[in-house]
Order: sequence, then structure tokens, then C-alpha cells
Amino acid sequence: MEDLFDNTVLCKNCDTKMLKISLQKNGFNLRSLGCNGCSNKIIHPQDLKEYEEFQSLKKKNFRVKLRFVGNSYAVSIPREIIDFMNEQEKSVNEMVDLSFEEFGRISLHF
Ligand SMILES: [Zn+2]
Repeated sequence: MEDLFDNTVLCKNCDTKMLKISLQKNGFNLRSLGCNGCSNKIIHPQDLKEYEEFQSLKKKNFRVKLRFVGNSYAVSIPREIIDFMNEQEKSVNEMVDLSFEEFGRISLHF
């Protein structure tokens, strides 16, 4: 499918041709168009939608149960988080890195 940003877009403020740039926000790469004339920016609608989805997931607080499995404890990671990451990365690796970040906090790196 043809991408919206493959077209020539003129800045609404100064009629200058906008150029493809990439914006970084919270680990997200947002495809964008930038104007050299007036620093106007447009984020790709699809990337903006995904970023907003991430923001609403991020606000959620999940309460999950610690279960004893074999000789370890297991927690369930809510499916909507994995589904979202799968959409972004195409597939999430089954091996994740876990570290005891600080007292009272464990982090997982996908
Ligand atoms: Zn402009």
C-alpha cells in the first residue's frame, strides 16, 4: 500500500516542501514530516495512533498474582501488553531479561 508520506506535502504555514524526519519519543520511532521554514511538524497518523495506544496502556496498573511454579514464582503478563509489543516488533522473543532493578522492583527487558 502506498504510504501517505510518499507524497509531496507542503507546510500549511509557509508553503515549503516538508521533508521526512524521525522523531523519538519514549523509545518510539515516529515517522514525521518537518518544515525547514518554520519548524512545523506532522507525525504520521498511523504512528501517532500507536503511540497514543501505548500511552493509554502505560497508564494502566495491572494487579497480577504471584504463583509458585516448580521452584520459582511466576506472574502473568497481561495479554494486551504482549499483543501490543507483537504488533510493534512483529514477534516478541520468548526469552526475556529479568533484573532486580532496585528493592521492591523487578524489571523485564523484551
Ligand atoms: Zn513551514
